[in-house]
Amino acid sequence: MTTAATSVDSESSAFDVESVRRQFPALSREVYGKPLVYLDSAASAQKPEVVIEAELSCYREYYANVHRGVHRFAQLSTDAYEAARQKVSTFIGAGCPREVVFVRGTTEGINLVASTFGRQRVGAGDEVLITAMEHHSNIVPWQLLCEQQGAKLVVAPMSQSGELIWDEFEKRLTKKTKLLSFVHVSNALGTINPAAEMTAAAQEQGIPVVIDGAQAAPHMPIDIASIGCDFYTLSGHKMFGPSGIGALYGKLEHLNTMPPYQGGGEMIRTVTFEKSEWAEPPAKFEAGTPNIAGAIGMGAAVDFLKSLDMAQVAAYEAELLEYGTQTLEAIPGLTLIGTAQNKAGVLSFLIDGVHAHDIGTILDREGIAVRAGHHCAQPVMDFYGVAATARASLALYNTKDDIDRLAAGIGKIREVFG
Ligand code: PLP
Repeated sequence: MTTAATSVDSESSAFDVESVRRQFPALSREVYGKPLVYLDSAASAQKPEVVIEAELSCYREYYANVHRGVHRFAQLSTDAYEAARQKVSTFIGAGCPREVVFVRGTTEGINLVASTFGRQRVGAGDEVLITAMEHHSNIVPWQLLCEQQGAKLVVAPMSQSGELIWDEFEKRLTKKTKLLSFVHVSNALGTINPAAEMTAAAQEQGIPVVIDGAQAAPHMPIDIASIGCDFYTLSGHKMFGPSGIGALYGKLEHLNTMPPYQGGGEMIRTVTFEKSEWAEPPAKFEAGTPNIAGAIGMGAAVDFLKSLDMAQVAAYEAELLEYGTQTLEAIPGLTLIGTAQNKAGVLSFLIDGVHAHDIGTILDREGIAVRAGHHCAQPVMDFYGVAATARASLALYNTKDDIDRLAAGIGKIREVFG
């Protein structure tokens, strides 16, 4: 056994999944009289007690609007909201909390960058580069931008296994490329892109880089400082935090010079009818009353993840993915979609003669939650020539037993469809 394998084994065996599971109340529920097997965390993850409690206690004990009151509750809420920003900043290795803007989620983070930084940088005849494995959130905002500016959206292709084709990617980084935006971990395929290498290749040519980190943050340590990207987006609900909250990391030098995203309260320094002046970032990009309790809940989710050690989480999930891959590959008539070497816990699959929605429905009756559909990645489905796949997505609370239940559930599908 190699040294690396030994260290992964010892990291994953140090991970106590049963104690993790006990922290998630929803995981002990039954569905149709069967214990729930939750394999849909790539769509949205379940919440640990500490996250639920952090939101509840904000509303129960000290809730008020932030940054604008002198009373005690306003101070307590503001302190907790800003502490959450500090936690997210440290968790992702940002330079300082001012580089972290609270947004609704990854979708809003990318739209923010496209409609501010993007409009500043991308003009007629320019190009924006993405990859063939993007979620719609990292396609449509750039299409809108390109349409508005008379620019072109260029796509770096992937191989049949769902990996970026490096030479083709490099060829598309040209003088016309004004922005590169790519997914760190594909939600439809599980592919982990070489974020630091892709960033370095673009930045060598002076091209700024946006990374869609929605599926990365729940599964692996994120260190913006070593990736070196210009922007990075996160969704709270995928990393065991609340929905309706996320974070956009942006280099301070960009945030300082970008125009505001939305106008309103909070984001200004002075307002007259003739002219307004903007607040400093991140307030400049947080117009209106934010999702205060959501941000505090996201801070609690970060505390939860930090308490687990993300390197151990990644090692445990790698072992689970290997087991899941072997188990599903052994099922006759089942095809896995997305077989990249470097992959996170996503098992997208097809079963001969059975529609993905039927797979999802039959599994549901067995108490097993998977997603069936195009996973907001229609171009990925088109690439494989399918309308939809069934997707079992793994998270740190899943077990080999969950995978065995999935395999048994697939056996039932065979009974129905022959
Ligand atoms: N990017 C990826 C890779 C995703 O998986 C998702 C959600 O599924 C998003 C972006 C959009 O995230 P949100 O809906 O939280 O804005």
